[in-house]
Amino acid sequence: MHGPDPIILSRSEHPISRSQIGENTLKVMYRLHRQGFKAFLVGGGVRDLLLDRTPKDFDVGTNATPNQVKKLFRNCFLVGRRFRLAHVRFGGEVVEVATFRRQPEEGELPEDPNDHFLFAENVFGTPQEDAFRRDFTINALFYDIASFSIIDYVGGLKDLEARRIRTIGEPEVRFAEDPVRMLRALEFSARLGFTLDPAAQEGILGCAPQIATAAPARIREELMELFRHKVAAPVLRAAAEYGMLAPLLAGFEGGEATYALLSEVDQRTASGVVPEEAFCLASLFLAPFLTGCREIKTIGEALHLANELLTPHCAYFHIAHGIRHLARELLIACFRFRRGPGQRGQRRFVRHPMTPRGLELYNLWCRVAEEVVPAETWQQILCEQEQSSAPADNPPPSSSGRRPRRRGGRRRGRRRSSPESSS
Ligand code: ATP
Ligand code: MG
Repeated sequence: MHGPDPIILSRSEHPISRSQIGENTLKVMYRLHRQGFKAFLVGGGVRDLLLDRTPKDFDVGTNATPNQVKKLFRNCFLVGRRFRLAHVRFGGEVVEVATFRRQPEEGELPEDPNDHFLFAENVFGTPQEDAFRRDFTINALFYDIASFSIIDYVGGLKDLEARRIRTIGEPEVRFAEDPVRMLRALEFSARLGFTLDPAAQEGILGCAPQIATAAPARIREELMELFRHKVAAPVLRAAAEYGMLAPLLAGFEGGEATYALLSEVDQRTASGVVPEEAFCLASLFLAPFLTGCREIKTIGEALHLANELLTPHCAYFHIAHGIRHLARELLIACFRFRRGPGQRGQRRFVRHPMTPRGLELYNLWCRVAEEVVPAETWQQILCEQEQSSAPADNPPPSSSGRRPRRRGGRRRGRRRSSPESSS
């Protein structure tokens, strides 16, 4: 049905060795194979091994159905409402095993269009069909445990060589099918430093507004992936250039100051800090917030503006109240930092558990903005506060200037007043 025969690289023709594949993944693949099923390493794992990068995880593809997989492994659980998967658990590690899928034919789809997506995700197929339903050629390579060979149905090896992101099939068709693929195209391009194939570029230009029709929960998850992979700045900038940013983020406008700040956030993540959603959210909105705060004097007005920015976004993406609240505290903290010391409520503010995190964000902002009260000024105030409140037998704060982490009591204290409540 699809194109010519696959390209098959035997063990001696490619660099992937079994020692690079997780031990538990190998166990799962061997057992499937011994029981007469196909067992392939699929997706990002194969791509990353061929690029000599460390894969985030290994996914296994098989022609065994989820129930057959479950029968083979005592430690196996079937998961996924949308996409039925088998999870084989080894202590804390999970090996994901997916049955090969195919695109359903038009006539097969259920009557109710709302059920199409769910149905389409769960029609089992051949390995070749499974390759063709994937998003990009470089993500559709298989490693077969039976022969230790690589199987390429879609021209992925050639595109890896050319360092190019190419959709499998017509970009317009594949992007219309699932608009999240457009965001993933920009993400992989930034993560791997690959170029986007011209047809994919045109496809994104044409389909960009359709991203607004994607399920908010999926966008929210992909957005956090951008932050985790330290590519929030380049991807959101590219999204803006393709006219995809506003439909992606419910009207969010972006702008140079935002991309500059996001680039600092990406570097912070690269240095080993795990990005929290509230921090990411605050960094998205900090530039428009502080711009809007130019004419603002009181915390009450700043709170109002923070709510105006965050509430529609959080409502659209079903972001929990607690996360929105933390993001708002980070914004308000930056407002206070930029206003400078010596204002009402400062004592309470510098003691608040969220204030050091706010200062981390403000510190990044200081690197990209002009005319700011330097973060160091506040760093010193926070350190002095720390020293004055430390019990005598506690060691003094570290000389690095970083505020030591407070242990015990206060951070977990019950219902502390928020810095917002004091103005
Ligand atoms: P990484 O895990 O490093 O981010 P990955 O390529 O493994 O990259 P996943 O999101 O884990 O990406 O998805 C696993 C595989 O599933 C992909 O490699 C791709 O083949 C397929 N895939 C994921 N999302 C889609 C999609 N929206 N449309 C088609 N195929 C997809
Ligand atoms: Mg993956």
